[in-house]
Amino acid sequence: MAQILPISDPDTLAWATDVLRRGDVVALPTETVYGLAADATNPQAIAAIYEAKARPSFNPLIAHVSDMEMAKAHVSFSPLAERLADAFWPGALTLVLPLSDTTGIHSLATAGLATAAIRMPEGFARELIAAFGQPLAAPSANRSGRVSPTSARHVADDLGDRISLILDGGRCRIGVESTILAVEGERLRLLRPGGVPAEEIEDMIGRAVDRPAAVSDGGAVIAPGMLASHYAPSAPVRLNASEARPGEALIRFGGLPLRGADQAAAIMDLSASGDLREAAANLFDMLKQADATGATGIAVAPVPRHGLGEAINDRLSRAAAPRD
Ligand code: AMP
Ligand code: MG
Repeated sequence: MAQILPISDPDTLAWATDVLRRGDVVALPTETVYGLAADATNPQAIAAIYEAKARPSFNPLIAHVSDMEMAKAHVSFSPLAERLADAFWPGALTLVLPLSDTTGIHSLATAGLATAAIRMPEGFARELIAAFGQPLAAPSANRSGRVSPTSARHVADDLGDRISLILDGGRCRIGVESTILAVEGERLRLLRPGGVPAEEIEDMIGRAVDRPAAVSDGGAVIAPGMLASHYAPSAPVRLNASEARPGEALIRFGGLPLRGADQAAAIMDLSASGDLREAAANLFDMLKQADATGATGIAVAPVPRHGLGEAINDRLSRAAAPRD
């Protein structure tokens, strides 16, 4: 079983750095979700991520950096990309940028693309990358197709028998994955809604970002790896529910009562006060809790679509998508 070390332990940083130097994977907390991290420049280490997650294919991964100098060694920044990084890093915004000639990010992490997805996380993850000195590839620390982990316990339940080290930083502050924005000249395309609301990006640059149709309807594959049926609990998920059916677990929003709640297998509320930040932080945890009740299905009440609601609705529609 994996060893679980608190990030507050003074030896954890050095220990984790050693594990990464050996080319092994480490599960680590970030402000978005827990990541399964490995050296983004080492193909064996990257392969170990895919192996632990049992990912069916080599999707491009996000490379996490500790500072702009490290970022600029691997991707090239246009003035617009630099403004975005200035405004939102460290934070939950991932930028897809052209690889630089000097990049050491291995093609197994970029799936052979000429671009890389790059992000500067905050807090302990950033300190670890700085100590390690190379970018870390880090998709969510769950088996492929399962709900993303927002606590060390989630990671241990899902991957504890497949990895050696889990770093425990408590619950993730944001709780949903990063927003992914492709910067193509002056054009900005939202590839995945996430922890930074698209409206905040639009306010900063003073114009709208493109939302490819597949993003706004939460459907088709627009970037490699964006499977519709991602983040799936084992029970079927029913969205925009106005009532609970017998045997279903009920996930409410904003404290609004739903009909049939007395027959529900379990009732929880993403945020009784209707706060979208609180709802994002609770989302994956409550999907797991609802699943763990053994309910026949999971009924989810409507969640507003503005701000973080865009990312929440995206993840919910993926959780509800038909499975292969
Ligand atoms: P994850 O690391 O699991 O949070 O997911 C990374 C996401 O970033 C996946 O959906 C990828 O398809 C997307 N991604 C990574 N690199 C690129 C890229 N170069 N171009 C477009 N999308 C990318
Ligand atoms: Mg994931």
